[in-house]
Amino acid sequence: MLCDICNEHQSFYVRKYEGVKLCRACFKKSFENKVRKTIIEHQMLNVNDQLGVAVSGGKDSLTLLHVLKKLGSRFPKFKLKALIIDEGIKGYRDEALQIASTFCKSKGVPIEVFSFKDIYGFILDEIIEETKQKYPCSLCGILRRRVMEIGAREMNVTKLATGHNLDDELQTFFLNIFHGEPTRIGRNKPLMDGSNGTFIVKVKPFHKVLEKEVSLYAFLNRIPFQESPCPYAGTALRNDIRSFLDNMEMNHPGSKYIAYNAVNKLKTLSTTVKKDSFMNCILCGSPSSNQICSVCKVTI
Ligand code: AMP
Ligand code: ZN
Repeated sequence: MLCDICNEHQSFYVRKYEGVKLCRACFKKSFENKVRKTIIEHQMLNVNDQLGVAVSGGKDSLTLLHVLKKLGSRFPKFKLKALIIDEGIKGYRDEALQIASTFCKSKGVPIEVFSFKDIYGFILDEIIEETKQKYPCSLCGILRRRVMEIGAREMNVTKLATGHNLDDELQTFFLNIFHGEPTRIGRNKPLMDGSNGTFIVKVKPFHKVLEKEVSLYAFLNRIPFQESPCPYAGTALRNDIRSFLDNMEMNHPGSKYIAYNAVNKLKTLSTTVKKDSFMNCILCGSPSSNQICSVCKVTI
């Protein structure tokens, strides 16, 4: 069966949601074009950016680094720097640090490590044990976001890119629904503008690509990544949502894109979401939408 795009090479992947068969070369090109278009559509980057890439050692963020390096190579002033957070998860994060450092070195991208231990004085394993957390992922997410801010500022980057893909974004939408937090839906965007310098500008160049296609692209480009899942991930509500969405896509190809587009429409319809306003946390001074920020709530 020949590729529907070039009509020349053997196809190896059927993109069911578009009804096309693709060869390896055409798949790679179409993946990169999708990312390029996303960056342009949302004006995520410019050629003078010193862009930080938050790498976890997983397939999404290392693939993102690979693609950004490729797309940015034409612009001499465009520079990449990688940032990795060591949360302190025994038997898991060390391997990720090793894989990410080796990969960044091979790409000539400098990498800096920021640890919970240095910033908070404890590691994730300890605080989970101490507070008997039922949902470690939300606690880790809160603590990780703050470290990203601190790390990005210390590294002097103009923006920070993360590897969130379309599946992540859809899962987050349903998580907000099941957590009963509809107002958070409108806040999650492909480009987070940082509320006038309060936070670092964050971009998600993969937010329109399916996780499955990120895996495929990583495989075709022999990008090494950590395959073992985080030991805490099993408890997450996100897993049940992921299974539900994967089932929908398998039984009804195109469901994820349809839902994703519907979510984006919903965001533009909502007129009741107030513009975020920030004050300084009375305990640590960080920008916060409440008197006490979410980090202090979980750490003090
Ligand atoms: P996750 O929330 O684990 O799905 O990760 C989403 C994105 O956040 C990844 O693609 C990375 O860009 C970033 N990220 C997650 N964990 C880390 C980490 N430990 N260090 C740096 N970036 C991370
Ligand atoms: Zn605080």
